[in-house]
Amino acid sequence: VTRRRWLFADQLGPHFLDHPILDAAGADEPVADEVGHGALQPVLLVVSRRAFHRGPIHRRKAHLLLSALLHRAAELGERASLVEADTYRDAVIALGEPLEVVGPTSRAAVGLVESLPDVTVLPPRGFAASGEAFTAWATGRRQLRLEDFYREQRRRLGLLLEPDGTPTGGTWNLDAENRQPPPRGAHRLGDATTIPDPWWPTEDDLDAEARALLDRWVRDDGLVLLGADGPRRFAVTAAEATAAADHFLDHRLGAFGPYEDAMLADDRWMAHSLLSVPLNLGLLDPVELARAAEARYRAGAAPLASVEGFIRQVVGWRDYVWHLYWRGGPSYAASNVLEARTPLPHWWEALDADAVTARCLGGVLRDLHDEGWVHHIPRLMVLGSWALQHGLDPQALTDWFRRAFVDGYDWVMVPNVVGMSQWADGGVMATKPYTSGGAYLHKMSDYCGGCRYSPTVRAGPTACPFTAGYWAFLARHREQLAGNHRLRTVLGGLDRLQDLPAVLAQEQARGTAAP
Ligand SMILES: Cc1cc2nc3c(=O)[nH]c(=O)nc-3n(C[C@H](O)[C@H](O)[C@H](O)COP(=O)(O)OP(=O)(O)OC[C@H]3O[C@@H](n4cnc5c(N)ncnc54)[C@H](O)[C@@H]3O)c2cc1C
Ligand code: SF4
Repeated sequence: VTRRRWLFADQLGPHFLDHPILDAAGADEPVADEVGHGALQPVLLVVSRRAFHRGPIHRRKAHLLLSALLHRAAELGERASLVEADTYRDAVIALGEPLEVVGPTSRAAVGLVESLPDVTVLPPRGFAASGEAFTAWATGRRQLRLEDFYREQRRRLGLLLEPDGTPTGGTWNLDAENRQPPPRGAHRLGDATTIPDPWWPTEDDLDAEARALLDRWVRDDGLVLLGADGPRRFAVTAAEATAAADHFLDHRLGAFGPYEDAMLADDRWMAHSLLSVPLNLGLLDPVELARAAEARYRAGAAPLASVEGFIRQVVGWRDYVWHLYWRGGPSYAASNVLEARTPLPHWWEALDADAVTARCLGGVLRDLHDEGWVHHIPRLMVLGSWALQHGLDPQALTDWFRRAFVDGYDWVMVPNVVGMSQWADGGVMATKPYTSGGAYLHKMSDYCGGCRYSPTVRAGPTACPFTAGYWAFLARHREQLAGNHRLRTVLGGLDRLQDLPAVLAQEQARGTAAP
């Protein structure tokens, strides 16, 4: 029986249809697609209205998902059936055909496809290591450290590896070269380096159709959208994704490494790749992308530190997060060891940057409002850090991140928010909570210069919310964090703060009002 291949909106690249898959052990040798269908296997694409109605969603994200589905349907022509329905279930039942689907990317979607009649579920794709390869690596380890997994990935895939098995350049990790503050005096990274703007797509009729559909849902179905509309910024087809990746690798990769952690108020993109959207739509294969980055280094076109840093993200962090999501199960997603229960304040939920005067937080919220995207450090050290300091509920926060970010999906948000940014897993992902006072933000950005607060002040009208919030967070969780040797020095510092009672009273009074 030739089953129709059902493709979810995050399975739209060629490798989710006809491309060979890695073997079960995750070896680098591709084996023939086990289903063995020819190029004309029919395809089902579903626009599920309910999928867009799970709480207010950023307009940019909704647009990207719809645009990607419409573009894939147009590419596949008569081969594909594009169905709009209230739910996925309705679409599948109405079609009434035997289907097969590549393993979906969320626990809820796996539950759905398994509950439907006559749907065969194939192994997941789109990641560098199979579940079996990850389990083989993880079995027997006391701690699942990213660094160890990443080295295993490099060895297994032969990335940046010399013939004798040693890492290219003599070291696995060039992080120390990749943590530079922004160039002094520059307002945009391109002012101080030679990097051009990112690659931007050109919108077409299908984007107009996606926009019109959203407007109709807002008008007729009560769809609630967040944030601003604007020209599409991210790739939604495999061809666009390849163009975006090539542009990044040829022109921007060199500056990626050193300024990976830096922020500039007037440069929201810095030298980041903007490839999480096409990667998470399933349009790019992460191993091919990593090999293309390595080729730039081998050709002398990009420095090793940048290439190593990028490969670490794409086949290290991204895969690590994916596998932790499945390994952790529902109890991991629900974890809340710091018992954080504060609801998300309204200005936060609504991306209301105008309500915020703290220049860093306000600037990041505005970028998020405008684009549905900010890079890793604003996510972790501005949004995540403020949320952690104020005890925002990690599950509500995960849901917000998923809805507000163009690249947000359950598998990637749960480990990144619950684990990495909120330490709600008690240290599975991060050895200590990621939070800081204003001094770190001052060093790594140009936000503090024009701010009404001062990063060095912790009490009084100019007290930096991050500096005061940092001490208040440590004081609140002092007992729980006491056994963490990485925090011993800072926790000891609490006793030397003579104004600690005043700082705590001030932070209690500020609560979650917009700073
Ligand atoms: C609180 C928080 C929430 C996040 N939410 C998401 C999310 O919903 N979706 C998402 O793809 N990433 C998420 N990340 C990881 C990371 O911030 C984004 O992947 C990155 O900022 C996307 O921009 P980029 O494509 O320019 O990435 P680059 O900086 O150019 O990095 C290259 C690629 O590496 C991958 N990558 C790097 N770090 C991670 C990571 N921690 N987890 C997964 N992939 C990673 C991404 O695919 C990214 O495209 C989150 C991080 C934090 C701290
Ligand atoms: S002073 Fe504090 S609140 Fe203001 S920009 Fe700096 S870190 Fe942010």
